[in-house]
Amino acid sequence: MGRLVMKFGGTSVANIDRIRNVARHVKREVDAGHDVAVVVSAMAGKTNELVEWCRDASPMHDAREYDAVVASGEQVTSGLLAIVLQGMGIQARSWQGWQIAIKTSDAHASARILEIDGTEIINRFGDRKEVAVIAGFQGINPQTNRITTLGRGGSDTSAVAIAAAIRADRCDIYTDVDGVYTTDPRVVPKARRLDKIAFEDMLELASLGAKVLQVRSVELGMVHNMPVFVRSSFDKPEDIDPHGTPPGTLICSEEEIMESHVVTGIAFSKDEAQISLRQIEDKPGVAAAIFGPLADANINVDMIVQNVSEDGKTTDLTFTVPASDYNRARDTITSSKGKIGYARLDSATDVSKVSVIGSGMRSHAGVAAKAFKALSERNINIRAITTSEIKFSVLIDAAYTELAVRTLHTLYGLDQT
Ligand code: ADP
Ligand code: ASP
Ligand code: MG
Repeated sequence: MGRLVMKFGGTSVANIDRIRNVARHVKREVDAGHDVAVVVSAMAGKTNELVEWCRDASPMHDAREYDAVVASGEQVTSGLLAIVLQGMGIQARSWQGWQIAIKTSDAHASARILEIDGTEIINRFGDRKEVAVIAGFQGINPQTNRITTLGRGGSDTSAVAIAAAIRADRCDIYTDVDGVYTTDPRVVPKARRLDKIAFEDMLELASLGAKVLQVRSVELGMVHNMPVFVRSSFDKPEDIDPHGTPPGTLICSEEEIMESHVVTGIAFSKDEAQISLRQIEDKPGVAAAIFGPLADANINVDMIVQNVSEDGKTTDLTFTVPASDYNRARDTITSSKGKIGYARLDSATDVSKVSVIGSGMRSHAGVAAKAFKALSERNINIRAITTSEIKFSVLIDAAYTELAVRTLHTLYGLDQT
């Protein structure tokens, strides 16, 4: 007998029929004798609709009220799943974030989980064999007593945090794909499912655009050494042996992975914007004058490239910010123009970042160089590059994203054969 967290994403609970299907997955594990806590997302598309309603009501809405609105999607699915489970003769109770309580910071819309009290849920496993059905994505700030949400995709983080709090043996993330692939299988049909992936590699994949798991959930898995298993909710529940190994991807520590590849996977993100400042005077303090105000405005700068301007005397500086912060970043820079001193600001929002990830890169030279050659042979222009120990990223025109991802996927031998 073990203790499991089972998380189901939006497409898995998109309607009552799918919720019934989820309930059958839960029943299988309960029948196998496991203690089960389920974490659910809102029905597919619901959170987008709620976000849109807030924007419609007022573009400058209060973040606390935004959270009150967008947290409601998960409230509905947790109640519905508890009703369906009860109808199948399984003891089940729904829990909202504040009822547990899942205590978070007060950073509304992107709150961080601080503490979860798992006592009551654990007690109910023992006393009544009760399944806990927990609304993902939401928590409560203990100081203000207000509902918070964890950022888009946050139910993954709820699930891993709850798994740690109730000392679960494993956290199963059920979704609309049967595991983590070498790249998004919807973009590259030749992508290959990974049996295992190290937390470090998964962290990079998720931060660089693979939305199969929220970044913070991978961080928590790593910190608590909680095995996270990504699998499909569309497999027929009764066909799965609860004691066997179903198709899926285990995210685990590096030591548990035997076979090693130089490149693990490729991620991409179209959520990028590029700003280039032309002919900046080359003197100390300029970088601080540019990036200081951006940091004060809470804008994350990612890639930075500096080179000599056309005139040979001044410098050009290019950097990227998330597309959603683009307007604010532009305004912040233009209002500091006097201090920075540049001749022209150029920008582009139709850019994307393609990243190659693999902890094997630590011990291999020339991995990135191969990519630059392959991309140039396809006439794909690289606007900026960043590298770190286990990944490198290139910024390219958005129109070439799929071509670049497919080219690199083949180049590094990741294609399914
Ligand atoms: P859920 O609603 O279950 O949380 P998401 O839509 O958030 O599901 O995440 C699953 C999606 O992530 C898949 O449908 C897939 O298109 C996308 N995805 C992106 N990169 C990858 C990858 N490397 N492996 C698997 N899925 C990926
Ligand atoms: N429903 C939330 C979202 O769409 C949280 C989640 O699904 O993980 O972002
Ligand atoms: Mg998700």
